[in-house]
Amino acid sequence: MSWSPDGPGSERPTEGDYDGPAGMASGGIIESNWNQVTDSFDDMHLREELLRGIFAYGFEKPSAIQQRAIIPCIKGHDVIAQAQSGTGKTATFAVSILQRIDTSLKECQALVLAPTRELAQQSQKAVLALGDYLDARCHACIGGTNVREDLHRLEQGVQVVVGTPGRVFDMINRRALKTRYIKMFVLDEADEMLSRGFKDQIYDVFRNLEDDIQVILLSATMPVDVLEVTTRFMREPIRILVKKEELTLEGIRQFYVEVEKEDWKLDTLCDLYETLTITQAVIFCNTRRKVEWLTEKMTSRDFTISAIHGELEQGRRDIIMREFRSGSSRVLITTDLLARGIDVQQVSLVINYDLPTNRENYIHRIGRGGRFGRKGVAINFVTAEDFRSLKDIESFYNTEIEEMPMNVADLI
Ligand code: ADP
Repeated sequence: MSWSPDGPGSERPTEGDYDGPAGMASGGIIESNWNQVTDSFDDMHLREELLRGIFAYGFEKPSAIQQRAIIPCIKGHDVIAQAQSGTGKTATFAVSILQRIDTSLKECQALVLAPTRELAQQSQKAVLALGDYLDARCHACIGGTNVREDLHRLEQGVQVVVGTPGRVFDMINRRALKTRYIKMFVLDEADEMLSRGFKDQIYDVFRNLEDDIQVILLSATMPVDVLEVTTRFMREPIRILVKKEELTLEGIRQFYVEVEKEDWKLDTLCDLYETLTITQAVIFCNTRRKVEWLTEKMTSRDFTISAIHGELEQGRRDIIMREFRSGSSRVLITTDLLARGIDVQQVSLVINYDLPTNRENYIHRIGRGGRFGRKGVAINFVTAEDFRSLKDIESFYNTEIEEMPMNVADLI
């Protein structure tokens, strides 16, 4: 393959209604050039066994990105799919791969690269689960694991390899991973994969692939320089952008608890603890100090709590978020700083320990994209002074915030 990571350009054709590097719009987001939407898995003409796998996994309806991107991927187009995280991009490529591979052939036909080992493993799990009835074989080639085991698994024959660039390249070099039958090349978190650090490694892998390989890129963001790189190795890609969902308070039951004095909030929260852990809860405080204070108070009363705020070091933040996403921690205390970034769709309960200081943050803390039709409950702690702000929020959003009923746990 003739792409060079820093080379002048590609030898790939870019004729047709070519409109600049990969259809860049201002601000580094792509513009869609594909408008077909298929809003049910049944209408995607998928293999019977794959459809069974999808439903058995619990998916009922494709997400917005799945409704748009699966079909062009299956048709064999090069595709750039951009949608925010947590919107089902993993299943987008997993379903597409599972539809396209020949399971009677025990050769690698799809290669997925991800920036981290954890992501690679997550994707492998999704491919295995969705491909359960197809008997599809998928192996994760990641650093930090036994090389011999990799060699052995590849020797046995797998149809899909999901891995991190270094180990995958190693396997190709050793001729353990044969590239001849690979017809799909997927870059998950493409923005990160094609940024400086990874670019050379991706290139090392890419130049070993067949000329007519199908390339699929998935990412939450598409910086301009990354899009430019894609023009060097993609052929007239289909571009699909699913814009950030508008947040709504629809389907969210909102309550308030009157606490009279600030000091009473802590006891109120402790009383609610059982309710919090029914599923998962996020508790918002207005300052980092308060987050730390509350965490310490709750912990000293033997409640299990995680906490995160902007001043924690990134590595630590990642660990805390991972624990929360995986469900191993169930109650997370945080500040607004993270309200916009947190993507924890499984959270069905949000507590405003403090009412947000500005109205806009209320919807960022509580609102949902209504993605998979999930519902939620929000509970606002209000002191006598807070009452006006609560009324203000109510009228601003034209919504109703009722007094919390005794049976709130039944509503979660
Ligand atoms: P992304 O790759 O965009 O960050 P994921 O593929 O990890 O998002 O999906 C986020 C969550 O949503 C996962 O738990 C996944 O199982 C779930 N999910 C994905 N697609 C669907 C769907 N069509 N219906 C229900 N849940 C889905």
